[in-house]
Amino acid sequence: MKDLTIPQEAVLICKKCGFNYLHQERIEIFDRTEDESEGLHIHVEGGKAMIDRDISNNPSARRQGVSIFCICEGCHGVTRFDITQHKGNTYIESSVADISINSPRNESSET
Ligand SMILES: [Zn+2]
Repeated sequence: MKDLTIPQEAVLICKKCGFNYLHQERIEIFDRTEDESEGLHIHVEGGKAMIDRDISNNPSARRQGVSIFCICEGCHGVTRFDITQHKGNTYIESSVADISINSPRNESSET
């Protein structure tokens, strides 16, 4: 993984097609004490927030993590942006997410 200094402002792009029109449709926040198997999980999607103790999808193996799932206006694919902490470093990583998100805000995904 390489070091990255993000300028004051940057545009995220679709991991699948490279288009830069992304809609944030799901945000998951994972909070826990180091190495704890349980913690706080907040899932925000479709105007609702769900809270539980399941951190099994936490992108961080040992600490806190945030996952932002975006639908691409170009290819309708989902790109996942993970912000994780590990041993004092904070990482940001993007990947193609093989999931479907039903969003009333993304009319073209309702087929
Ligand atoms: Zn795309």
